[in-house]
Amino acid sequence: MFVYNNDLMQEIEPGIARLTIQLPVRPGHVHCYVVEGDEGRLLVDTGLALPGLEEFFRAELGEPIDAIVITHFHPDHVWGGEIAAAVTGAPLFQGRLDYEQCELVWGDPGWPERIADWFRRNGVPAEMVDTMLERDREALPLIHFARDPRLLDDGDSVDAWEVVALPGHADGHVGFLREGVLLTGDHLLPDITPAVGVYPESSPDPLGAYLSSLERTVRLAPRLALPSHGEPMHDPAGRAREILEHHHERLAATSDALGSDPRTGYEISLDLFPGNLGPSPRRFAVAETLAHLDRLVATGDGARQGDVTPVTYTAA
Ligand SMILES: [Zn+2]
Repeated sequence: MFVYNNDLMQEIEPGIARLTIQLPVRPGHVHCYVVEGDEGRLLVDTGLALPGLEEFFRAELGEPIDAIVITHFHPDHVWGGEIAAAVTGAPLFQGRLDYEQCELVWGDPGWPERIADWFRRNGVPAEMVDTMLERDREALPLIHFARDPRLLDDGDSVDAWEVVALPGHADGHVGFLREGVLLTGDHLLPDITPAVGVYPESSPDPLGAYLSSLERTVRLAPRLALPSHGEPMHDPAGRAREILEHHHERLAATSDALGSDPRTGYEISLDLFPGNLGPSPRRFAVAETLAHLDRLVATGDGARQGDVTPVTYTAA
């Protein structure tokens, strides 16, 4: 059985503590934070609900928690929501758009088929799609999230922490800002570039949204950014600029991969993410490639033939 590493509540600075939950998959851990507001304490994100999470929260959270806030609907952030709410008795808050997508994905038994169709339409070979479908069908019933949260919009605040919409890694991703400290979720990570992909029903240009969110982070210029994976960042604006540069390079490489022959997102992903990737990493590679392709289409630097199957892309 998977065993949690206990005794991990760690003070980052007065009023801000970090709780680390080990993950059986990469990147190996996810952080939740416990932060002080004006009136009480907030739990930020809820981890993955593997066996032992309830005991872990009971042992580590300590004093009352007055609110639970969620940065985005990916399983390592929302899955422990029901448990956290039961242990603390606190209300749970989630971004409005993010909760909509949470229900659309984890709340819909038809989701594995929808995403499988969509990967097929983007040229992923049938055998690989079948493997993805099988895994998604197995995973979906396991994933839980807290229903009917209180909904948040950009500019709202929860106990003095301001909600900052930072779409990109997820369309409804939010961060929380107070006195120069930004809780970034997966919007800004120190060691890896957050994945940005296109999926069925996601916004048409998630990379465009992500680049704007990075620019917003540069403008906000927090003194400290606390990510869900990895160590605190003391120059968040600098890190945001690095990731902006990375995507501009990737956009140039994607543009170079386009020619006059129509090719699918899957085929182009083989140029941009070469090597014999298994179904799981290939799926992220295809989604990320599509994000770059759709950004090029949005800026007029690429063209999509969207009404044919499979969907293809050419130079503009
Ligand atoms: Zn995450």
